[in-house]
Amino acid sequence: MSVDVAWAIDWVRRSAQTIAEHRDELIELDRQIGDGDHGENLDRGFRAVVAKLDALEEPPAEIGDVLKLVATTLMSTVGGAAGPLYGTAYLRAAKVTAAAELDSAGVVALIEAALEGIVARGKATTGEKTMVDAWSPAAEAAVAAADAGGTPADVLAAAAKAATAGAESTVPLAATKGRASYLGERSIGHLDPGARSSELLLADAAAAAAA
Ligand code: ADP
Ligand code: MG
Repeated sequence: MSVDVAWAIDWVRRSAQTIAEHRDELIELDRQIGDGDHGENLDRGFRAVVAKLDALEEPPAEIGDVLKLVATTLMSTVGGAAGPLYGTAYLRAAKVTAAAELDSAGVVALIEAALEGIVARGKATTGEKTMVDAWSPAAEAAVAAADAGGTPADVLAAAAKAATAGAESTVPLAATKGRASYLGERSIGHLDPGARSSELLLADAAAAAAA
Protein backbone atom coordinates (compact mmCIF):
# COMPACT_ATOMS: atom_id res chain seq x y z
CA MET A 1 0.00 0.00 0.00
CA SER A 2 1.17 3.51 -0.78
CA VAL A 3 0.04 7.07 -1.37
CA ASP A 4 0.98 8.79 -4.63
CA VAL A 5 1.14 12.17 -6.35
CA ALA A 6 -2.61 12.13 -6.96
CA TRP A 7 -3.06 11.73 -3.19
CA ALA A 8 -0.82 14.74 -2.54
CA ILE A 9 -2.77 16.86 -5.03
CA ASP A 10 -6.06 15.70 -3.54
CA TRP A 11 -4.76 16.54 -0.05
CA VAL A 12 -3.86 20.06 -1.12
CA ARG A 13 -7.17 20.67 -2.90
CA ARG A 14 -9.12 19.35 0.10
CA SER A 15 -7.03 21.59 2.35
CA ALA A 16 -7.97 24.67 0.33
CA GLN A 17 -11.64 23.72 0.50
CA THR A 18 -11.53 23.03 4.24
CA ILE A 19 -9.62 26.20 5.09
CA ALA A 20 -12.15 28.21 3.05
CA GLU A 21 -14.99 26.53 4.96
CA HIS A 22 -13.31 27.19 8.32
CA ARG A 23 -12.01 30.65 7.45
CA ASP A 24 -14.40 32.48 9.77
CA GLU A 25 -13.87 30.02 12.61
CA LEU A 26 -10.08 30.45 12.37
CA ILE A 27 -10.47 34.23 12.25
CA GLU A 28 -12.61 34.09 15.40
CA LEU A 29 -10.16 31.81 17.24
CA ASP A 30 -7.29 34.14 16.35
CA ARG A 31 -9.36 37.18 17.28
CA GLN A 32 -9.73 35.73 20.81
CA ILE A 33 -6.00 35.31 21.51
CA GLY A 34 -4.26 37.03 18.58
CA ASP A 35 -4.98 39.55 15.85
CA GLY A 36 -7.70 37.73 13.92
CA ASP A 37 -5.82 37.21 10.66
CA HIS A 38 -5.16 33.44 10.72
CA GLY A 39 -8.22 32.34 8.73
CA GLU A 40 -7.90 35.09 6.15
CA ASN A 41 -4.18 34.54 5.66
CA LEU A 42 -4.42 30.78 5.27
CA ASP A 43 -7.42 31.04 2.96
CA ARG A 44 -5.52 33.47 0.72
CA GLY A 45 -2.52 31.15 0.75
CA PHE A 46 -4.36 27.98 -0.15
CA ARG A 47 -6.37 29.73 -2.86
CA ALA A 48 -3.05 30.78 -4.40
CA VAL A 49 -1.80 27.19 -4.13
CA VAL A 50 -4.83 25.88 -6.01
CA ALA A 51 -4.41 28.56 -8.68
CA LYS A 52 -0.82 27.40 -9.19
CA LEU A 53 -1.86 23.75 -9.31
CA ASP A 54 -4.54 24.59 -11.89
CA ALA A 55 -1.95 26.41 -14.02
CA LEU A 56 0.44 23.45 -14.19
CA GLU A 57 0.60 21.94 -17.67
CA GLU A 58 1.51 18.51 -16.36
CA PRO A 59 1.02 16.96 -12.93
CA PRO A 60 4.21 16.94 -10.85
CA ALA A 61 6.24 13.73 -10.98
CA GLU A 62 6.93 13.53 -7.27
CA ILE A 63 5.00 14.13 -4.05
CA GLY A 64 7.80 16.46 -2.98
CA ASP A 65 7.11 18.68 -6.02
CA VAL A 66 3.52 19.18 -4.83
CA LEU A 67 4.61 19.96 -1.27
CA LYS A 68 7.31 22.34 -2.51
CA LEU A 69 4.72 24.26 -4.53
CA VAL A 70 2.62 24.56 -1.36
CA ALA A 71 5.65 25.68 0.66
CA THR A 72 6.82 28.42 -1.68
CA THR A 73 3.28 29.70 -2.24
CA LEU A 74 2.41 29.82 1.45
CA MET A 75 5.70 31.56 2.23
CA SER A 76 5.00 34.29 -0.30
CA THR A 77 1.25 34.77 0.28
CA VAL A 78 0.54 34.02 3.97
CA GLY A 79 1.90 36.66 6.30
CA GLY A 80 2.21 36.54 10.08
CA ALA A 81 3.71 33.67 11.97
CA ALA A 82 1.83 30.95 10.13
CA GLY A 83 3.24 31.71 6.65
CA PRO A 84 6.88 30.98 7.51
CA LEU A 85 5.91 28.18 9.92
CA TYR A 86 3.74 26.26 7.45
CA GLY A 87 6.09 27.20 4.60
CA THR A 88 9.01 25.62 6.44
CA ALA A 89 6.88 22.59 7.38
CA TYR A 90 5.91 21.86 3.77
CA LEU A 91 9.43 22.61 2.53
CA ARG A 92 11.01 20.13 4.97
CA ALA A 93 8.30 17.62 4.12
CA ALA A 94 9.04 18.12 0.40
CA LYS A 95 12.71 17.31 0.97
CA VAL A 96 11.93 13.83 2.31
CA THR A 97 9.25 13.02 -0.27
CA ALA A 98 11.16 13.13 -3.56
CA ALA A 99 9.26 10.08 -4.79
CA ALA A 100 6.21 9.17 -6.86
CA GLU A 101 4.84 7.06 -4.00
CA LEU A 102 5.24 6.79 -0.25
CA ASP A 103 4.86 3.71 1.94
CA SER A 104 3.99 3.98 5.65
CA ALA A 105 7.56 4.82 6.62
CA GLY A 106 7.55 7.53 3.97
CA VAL A 107 4.38 9.06 5.39
CA VAL A 108 5.92 9.02 8.87
CA ALA A 109 8.98 10.79 7.46
CA LEU A 110 6.75 13.44 5.86
CA ILE A 111 4.96 14.21 9.14
CA GLU A 112 8.15 14.17 11.21
CA ALA A 113 9.87 16.50 8.73
CA ALA A 114 6.94 18.92 8.86
CA LEU A 115 7.09 18.97 12.66
CA GLU A 116 10.86 19.49 12.57
CA GLY A 117 10.38 22.41 10.20
CA ILE A 118 7.86 24.07 12.52
CA VAL A 119 10.12 23.56 15.53
CA ALA A 120 13.22 24.77 13.66
CA ARG A 121 11.39 27.91 12.63
CA GLY A 122 9.38 28.72 15.76
CA LYS A 123 11.45 27.14 18.54
CA ALA A 124 8.32 26.02 20.37
CA THR A 125 7.97 22.79 22.27
CA THR A 126 4.77 21.00 23.30
CA GLY A 127 2.66 22.70 25.95
CA GLU A 128 3.26 26.24 24.64
CA LYS A 129 -0.16 26.46 22.97
CA THR A 130 0.96 26.41 19.33
CA MET A 131 0.59 24.25 16.25
CA VAL A 132 3.37 22.07 17.70
CA ASP A 133 0.75 20.71 20.11
CA ALA A 134 -1.09 19.24 17.12
CA TRP A 135 1.91 18.12 15.03
CA SER A 136 3.96 16.53 17.81
CA PRO A 137 1.35 13.97 18.93
CA ALA A 138 0.49 13.45 15.25
CA ALA A 139 4.10 12.45 14.55
CA GLU A 140 4.17 10.14 17.57
CA ALA A 141 0.91 8.46 16.56
CA ALA A 142 2.18 8.09 13.00
CA VAL A 143 5.29 6.26 14.21
CA ALA A 144 3.19 3.96 16.40
CA ALA A 145 0.75 3.18 13.59
CA ALA A 146 3.56 2.39 11.15
CA ASP A 147 5.34 0.23 13.74
CA ALA A 148 2.09 -1.69 14.22
CA GLY A 149 2.05 -2.51 10.51
CA GLY A 150 -0.49 0.12 9.45
CA THR A 151 -0.98 1.21 5.85
CA PRO A 152 -0.25 4.82 4.84
CA ALA A 153 -3.98 5.50 5.23
CA ASP A 154 -3.88 4.01 8.75
CA VAL A 155 -0.83 6.12 9.60
CA LEU A 156 -2.53 9.30 8.39
CA ALA A 157 -5.77 8.45 10.22
CA ALA A 158 -3.84 7.91 13.45
CA ALA A 159 -1.94 11.15 12.97
CA ALA A 160 -5.14 13.08 12.30
CA LYS A 161 -6.84 11.63 15.37
CA ALA A 162 -3.87 12.55 17.56
CA ALA A 163 -3.77 16.05 16.07
CA THR A 164 -7.40 16.56 17.05
CA ALA A 165 -6.69 15.57 20.64
CA GLY A 166 -3.52 17.67 20.56
CA ALA A 167 -5.36 20.75 19.33
CA GLU A 168 -8.00 20.27 22.06
CA SER A 169 -5.20 20.04 24.61
CA THR A 170 -4.26 23.68 23.87
CA VAL A 171 -7.50 25.02 25.42
CA PRO A 172 -6.38 24.99 29.08
CA LEU A 173 -2.82 26.11 28.25
CA ALA A 174 -1.33 29.58 28.62
CA ALA A 175 0.52 30.61 25.46
CA THR A 176 4.25 31.15 25.82
CA LYS A 177 5.12 31.55 22.10
CA GLY A 178 3.77 33.79 19.37
CA ARG A 179 1.32 36.64 19.56
CA ALA A 180 -0.98 34.84 22.04
CA SER A 181 1.85 34.86 24.60
CA TYR A 182 1.30 38.62 24.98
CA LEU A 183 -1.95 37.68 26.75
CA GLY A 184 -0.21 35.34 29.19
CA GLU A 185 -2.77 33.73 31.50
CA ARG A 186 -5.60 35.40 29.61
CA SER A 187 -4.95 33.04 26.69
CA ILE A 188 -6.20 30.17 28.91
CA GLY A 189 -9.56 28.72 27.87
CA HIS A 190 -9.15 29.29 24.12
CA LEU A 191 -8.31 26.86 21.33
CA ASP A 192 -5.10 27.80 19.54
CA PRO A 193 -5.90 28.79 15.95
CA GLY A 194 -2.73 27.30 14.48
CA ALA A 195 -3.30 24.00 16.27
CA ARG A 196 -6.86 24.00 14.90
CA SER A 197 -5.73 24.67 11.32
CA SER A 198 -3.06 21.97 11.68
CA GLU A 199 -5.71 19.52 12.85
CA LEU A 200 -7.81 20.37 9.77
CA LEU A 201 -4.87 19.93 7.37
CA LEU A 202 -3.95 16.54 8.82
CA ALA A 203 -7.59 15.42 8.67
CA ASP A 204 -7.55 16.23 4.95
CA ALA A 205 -4.38 14.20 4.45
CA ALA A 206 -6.15 11.24 6.02
CA ALA A 207 -9.37 11.83 4.08
CA ALA A 208 -7.47 11.96 0.78
CA ALA A 209 -5.79 8.63 1.59
CA ALA A 210 -9.12 7.02 2.52
CA ALA A 211 -10.86 8.25 -0.65
P1 ADP B 1 0.29 35.93 13.74
O1 ADP B 1 0.36 35.46 15.15
O2 ADP B 1 1.55 36.55 13.27
O3 ADP B 1 -0.92 36.79 13.48
P2 ADP B 1 -1.13 33.72 12.57
O4 ADP B 1 -2.35 34.29 13.21
O5 ADP B 1 -1.23 33.43 11.12
O6 ADP B 1 0.13 34.60 12.84
O7 ADP B 1 -0.77 32.34 13.26
C1 ADP B 1 -0.89 32.19 14.65
C2 ADP B 1 -0.54 30.74 15.00
O8 ADP B 1 0.83 30.48 14.74
C3 ADP B 1 -0.73 30.41 16.46
O9 ADP B 1 -2.05 30.04 16.72
C4 ADP B 1 0.26 29.29 16.70
O10 ADP B 1 -0.33 28.02 16.47
C5 ADP B 1 1.30 29.52 15.65
N1 ADP B 1 2.55 30.00 16.22
C6 ADP B 1 2.87 31.26 16.58
N2 ADP B 1 4.14 31.31 17.03
C7 ADP B 1 4.63 30.04 16.96
C8 ADP B 1 5.88 29.42 17.26
N3 ADP B 1 6.92 30.13 17.74
N4 ADP B 1 6.01 28.09 17.03
C9 ADP B 1 4.98 27.37 16.55
N5 ADP B 1 3.78 27.90 16.23
C10 ADP B 1 3.60 29.20 16.44
MG1 MG C 1 -2.84 36.16 13.76
